[in-house]
Amino acid sequence: MTATSTRTGYLYHEVFGWHDTGSGPIFPSNGFGGVQPMLHAESPETKRRFHELVVVSGLIKELHRIEPYSATEEDLLRCHTVEHVRAMQEASKLPKGGDAGDGVSPFGNGGYEIALLAAGGIMAMTDAVLSGEVRNGYALVRPPGHHAIPSMGMGFCMFNNVGIAARHAQTKRGVGRIAVVDWDVHHGNGTQAIFYEDPSVLNISLHQDNCFPPDSGKISETGAGAGTGYALNVPIPPGSGNPAYEYAMTQVVMPALRRFRPEIILVSCGFDASLMDPLARQMVTSEGYRRLTTLLMEVADEVCGGRIAMSHEGGYNPMYVPFCGLAVLEQMSGHTTLVDPYSAFDYMASGPMLDHQRAAIDAAAKNVAGIPA
Ligand code: ZN
Repeated sequence: MTATSTRTGYLYHEVFGWHDTGSGPIFPSNGFGGVQPMLHAESPETKRRFHELVVVSGLIKELHRIEPYSATEEDLLRCHTVEHVRAMQEASKLPKGGDAGDGVSPFGNGGYEIALLAAGGIMAMTDAVLSGEVRNGYALVRPPGHHAIPSMGMGFCMFNNVGIAARHAQTKRGVGRIAVVDWDVHHGNGTQAIFYEDPSVLNISLHQDNCFPPDSGKISETGAGAGTGYALNVPIPPGSGNPAYEYAMTQVVMPALRRFRPEIILVSCGFDASLMDPLARQMVTSEGYRRLTTLLMEVADEVCGGRIAMSHEGGYNPMYVPFCGLAVLEQMSGHTTLVDPYSAFDYMASGPMLDHQRAAIDAAAKNVAGIPA
């Protein structure tokens, strides 16, 4: 498991853009209920445009392409109940597909097979990082995964891609300790649920306080049983920008990773903490995401030979997500390409961290000492 490569892996497959979330913006469209059809919030646009910017910017030439493979039923069952897997298989055979579980997470005919490739995408990237084929890498997969709990999908997620990759790494690649860093703006409730009693996986979620799911991801949720201390939640007040997110990295994420010393870091990477996202109210910019990546790479170099595998989660502004993603990939690979034109709006997010933001993060930081040494 010696990471000898300096390359950055990149994974995307066109069929991820064919995962069909239908024509209800979040809730199903309903003529007389007033919900006019439009693209679902979790549409292909954000991810497809991110991929196209990676190509058009020329960054693709600096990246090492990794091909996804399909997860197997056995891979899914390491994180999910057989009932959930069967329900997804059956609904996927229907002419118009079905829903992952909560009524706002639709998928089309054949959606099960696309979800297998998404889970297999981050599995393949994790394999490549562990084997040393690449130093780090980004799997631009769809559908996302971090809200999917063992018994059902939710929040636009069918299966928990990162959880499945973590269990795969432990079962098939001999990895012991894994850290998950989830900076999607919503709570990584599904990943937390899978590993809540498991001391081999440290799950750290930075999220907007009480955003989605409701009442999920409180500071007091720190794991249970043998897993006590191995869940860390950092609920960040709405309106927080780059300084607060950087503070959360330096005060919680980095010290937690130094204490836990994982063999690899998996990242649930959402760009919905951006200042332009419709499904949350945070103010991180593309430069903010670049900075989060820099800090994560610093601590990864210290504790696990730089091994980072990122998996794409949320992010719902099709204009802006591509530039946030480009910044992360540029930083991971050490190359720069285009200037983000939307940095013209960064002044809105340039204010200092506010006292209540600092206090919330300081409160979460107290739990770092609760990670068993
Ligand atoms: Zn999200």
